[in-house]
Amino acid sequence: DSFDAMGLQENLLRGIYAYGFEKPSAIQQRGIVPFCKGLDVIQQAQSGTGKTATFCSGILQQLDYGLTQCQALVLAPTRELAQQIEKVMRALGDYHGVKVHACVGGTSVREDQRILSAGVQVVVGTPGRVFDMLRRQSLRADCIKMFVLDEADEMLSRGFKDQIYDIFQLLPAKVQVGVFSATMPPEALEITRKFMNKPVRILV
Ligand code: AMP
Repeated sequence: DSFDAMGLQENLLRGIYAYGFEKPSAIQQRGIVPFCKGLDVIQQAQSGTGKTATFCSGILQQLDYGLTQCQALVLAPTRELAQQIEKVMRALGDYHGVKVHACVGGTSVREDQRILSAGVQVVVGTPGRVFDMLRRQSLRADCIKMFVLDEADEMLSRGFKDQIYDIFQLLPAKVQVGVFSATMPPEALEITRKFMNKPVRILV
């Protein structure tokens, strides 16, 4: 049970250790490797269990750093959470020089467009602003191969269902999907049935 045994890239391991993590938490122990294999994963876990580093590691391991296009999209229910995820992603991906941007409401649309056009490999955002950027084609979906819904139950209870469905329609059909949720209400199960391919289920 160590990060070393997971087959992660040297630069990602350095990022993980430099951030101060020594040993994987239970969800990291079970969730990082299947995500890195490109499998669809449903991880039912409360916040505080280390789920952020689970999907950040899975994404950072699979990015093509030679490309400047957006390859991974993470949705979160609040601006604060999206910005927090952005920081963790940037820190863990520091040795790869990963380009991450948080697309959230309440900030300048123009500024978002400027940053996206300069080349961003990972976008973390709230559903409304992300959909807006996709719709305007300021965010191009063609290279997105990983899609994570963080706190899916919370996003659904905040009324983001339609926007999440709209975003799914704009993504490439074979996108890898990760759903992280403390609970699995019917609307969350519906998403997993409609948009996931033989998902691995992990309960911690
Ligand atoms: P999360 O569930 O992702 O919000 O993480 C909850 C807290 O646990 C955060 O403060 C993380 O920095 C911390 N954390 C996550 N994974 C580890 C780990 N492997 N070792 C130590 N702390 C961790």
